Amino acid sequence: MELYSTNGKVENVNLKQAVFQGLPADNGLYMPTTIPKLDKEFIENIEKYDFQTIAYEITKTLIQGEIPDEDIAEIIKDAIDFDAPLIPVTDKMFCLELFHGPSLAFKDFGARFMSRLMSYYLQKEDKEINILVATSGDTGSAVAQGFLDAKGIKVTILYPSGKVSLNQEKQLTTLGKNITALEIDGVFDDCQALVKQAFLDKELNEKLNLSSANSINIARLIPQSFYYAYAYSRLKKTNKKTVFCVPSGNFGNICGGMIAREMGLPFDHFVVATNANDIVPSYLKTGLFEPQPSVATVSNAMDVGNPSNFSRFLALHGNDYALAKSKVTGKSYNDEITLYAVKKVYDKTGYIMCPHTAVAFLGLSDYMKESGFDGNGVFLSTAHPSKFADIIEDVIGEEIELPKRLKDIVNKEKVSIPMSKDFGEFKDWLLKNG
Ligand SMILES: *Cc1c(COP(=O)(O)O)cnc(C)c1O
Repeated sequence: MELYSTNGKVENVNLKQAVFQGLPADNGLYMPTTIPKLDKEFIENIEKYDFQTIAYEITKTLIQGEIPDEDIAEIIKDAIDFDAPLIPVTDKMFCLELFHGPSLAFKDFGARFMSRLMSYYLQKEDKEINILVATSGDTGSAVAQGFLDAKGIKVTILYPSGKVSLNQEKQLTTLGKNITALEIDGVFDDCQALVKQAFLDKELNEKLNLSSANSINIARLIPQSFYYAYAYSRLKKTNKKTVFCVPSGNFGNICGGMIAREMGLPFDHFVVATNANDIVPSYLKTGLFEPQPSVATVSNAMDVGNPSNFSRFLALHGNDYALAKSKVTGKSYNDEITLYAVKKVYDKTGYIMCPHTAVAFLGLSDYMKESGFDGNGVFLSTAHPSKFADIIEDVIGEEIELPKRLKDIVNKEKVSIPMSKDFGEFKDWLLKNG
């Protein structure tokens, strides 16, 4: 597999280099130089295959022999060991639930695949790396859960003492194994400053292989194509067209779907749905990409004012505005409409959506109404509603049951290492324990 940087100022790399570098030195994003087509017969028979087989076929085709087939199968089996069910919500609208992994959000697909891929390469060289993450809550738990048990990788999470919710703290501090939580006597910025200083410290870099779990790593993008193909496979027997609506922030998720489309899956159209941070819907209307400071909303994982995958989104449409506009429709919704949709869908069908999922539901319904599209509409559910229980319970007037895997964690005992915000203390600890 060969990848280029969307800024075009560095040499092409292979998958392994792209995975460990994360970001190219010219600040672009890595993209495959060619996106190979899936086997025609495979697509024609796709309804016969299960999730892991579809994931395997996509990965194998995309990475073109860089990893032996049996190792790809092993990585996928280990990384994607949970379901992505497609739930009919109306007769034409289906919810693709992507929250059945350990952190209850779709980011589990990317984090788990990336960690297994890194472990695979590290094991072959008998190397170890140390991943450092500063978190104010959610990112840390997705990374921690995603890298739990990954061979050759130690993860150190720094979080501000007393500044994360009880649930979040439990998710960070009860994993054990290769995950260590440092409870910093300070605020989030202190945690981030410690991590930044560690990456700049010569001695630490000589003695330890420090790494980050960058969110725009190509390894996180690849597995985000699997579930689009899977949803299509479950609907294929209806012989109708398929449209996807994706609740978007940094636009990594939807780029995964567009890669699947470029590989030959016959998706009819994409709808991007955002909250008030409507940079890409505006771009699709005007042709102008104008990043803005982000504004806070109830769908806070999408509060992004400068979407980091935008250059990939463009590259997937040949950097051609007219082409992008013909294949993608943009929609954006404020909090009031979003929460109204949560209530309305619950009252009508009993289905409970998180705020991000509700934004996607709205985008899809409006697109179907306005375009007269009469095929299958799939909207992606990116988080379990219990992650936003306080907001959602208020809206629907019912309690939301915590999934068992979250309940189990809440009952476990917290283990953290208290530490000051002094870099010397952090460095000494890393040198002894890294
Ligand atoms: C990260 C996230 C999103 C946005 O995904 P992007 O790939 O950044 O577009 C949407 N919903 C939830 C719950 C998320 O965690």
